[in-house]
Amino acid sequence: MNIKQYPYFDNNATTEIDPQILEVLNEYQTYYYANPSSTSHPAGMVCNALYQQHIQKIADLLNVSEKELIITSSATESINTAIKGIYFQYHQKKNHILSCKTEHSAVLNTLEYLQNNFNAEITLLDVDKNAQINLDELEKNIKENTLMVCLMMANNETGVIHPVDEIYKITQKHKVFFFCDATQALGKMIIKDIPADIFCGSAHKFYGPKGIGFLVVKNLGRKVFLLPLLHGGNQQEYRSGTLPLPLIAALSNALELAVTQSQGIISKIKTLRDIFEENLMNVCAVKIHGWEVNRICNTSNVQFQDIHKEIVLKLMKKFCFSRASACSDGSGKPSHVLTAMGLSKNEVDLSFRFSFSKFNTEQEIKQFLTELTREIKNLHT
Ligand code: PLP
Repeated sequence: MNIKQYPYFDNNATTEIDPQILEVLNEYQTYYYANPSSTSHPAGMVCNALYQQHIQKIADLLNVSEKELIITSSATESINTAIKGIYFQYHQKKNHILSCKTEHSAVLNTLEYLQNNFNAEITLLDVDKNAQINLDELEKNIKENTLMVCLMMANNETGVIHPVDEIYKITQKHKVFFFCDATQALGKMIIKDIPADIFCGSAHKFYGPKGIGFLVVKNLGRKVFLLPLLHGGNQQEYRSGTLPLPLIAALSNALELAVTQSQGIISKIKTLRDIFEENLMNVCAVKIHGWEVNRICNTSNVQFQDIHKEIVLKLMKKFCFSRASACSDGSGKPSHVLTAMGLSKNEVDLSFRFSFSKFNTEQEIKQFLTELTREIKNLHT
């Protein structure tokens, strides 16, 4: 079965790979299969040179030094490496970590693990009805023993953006690390520098392949040490394992597209999202979570009215969109993000996430709206 037959509005879960990136991946899998660490022979040397080039390119695109970059398998691995690595290195002096109730489960569950097993003190900030944190509250909660603040750049369920510039200033003032999960922001916001000491991303969220991500740990004038999660051949200082050159080449090219083409892509996707939201409001009564505040260009978290829920669930068989984050979808648990925003269980149950990509068309959106309109008319006749 070809899943392309279903209009795909679930791009915060993962994106389709860009054909240009797939070409790079295939080329490297076919021609550059040698291990970049095997520099005793010519094939290894060629692959090592290509590896160095791509690492340099990724670092340049992120505006960091290549020594600050760690290639990982995913944002989940980057998050675990960053939070556990820093905690295990520094917890004897400082064991308090500040985060927020709407973070991704990769952050929340890592924090919970440290709390339950390694005596970490965790504070999760509340958010308001628009998923925003209160910066005074953040500052008030930084204490003597605070090691790190972990806050994402953009939320995967609502698209709401955290004021990371201000957050970074606060953490710098109090000399605590700021780890920023930028997974949903890359390619969906114009970003020159990510204002954080430590940050991460994942290629499959910006039209790259699944299975490759990165972590940046900035050298803050005094090296930040991590305890590595993976021990082995020390191919990278903090992360062992054979370097997956084809995936690294694909990541560097996908990141280049995400960074250099972001202006045009962002405005195209935002236009599609606006068409969707404006027309949807004419079709039926909806509430769009985070509508009043700064959101990334592609995300629309929509709460339908009670009477429309069955229709929306029916449309879910023909169009791809999700109930909450893909990770909690199907778990039966109500979204922790929407719950933190103060929604009742019933309101969460009526909320659905639509997340668009550069591959979506206006026609697909119109098709969804036409079917929704038809189903609603049927309901009333
Ligand atoms: N952080 C955020 C904000 C995400 O949206 C996701 C994936 O949905 C992750 C982390 C985990 O990313 P990965 O699939 O690369 O592990």
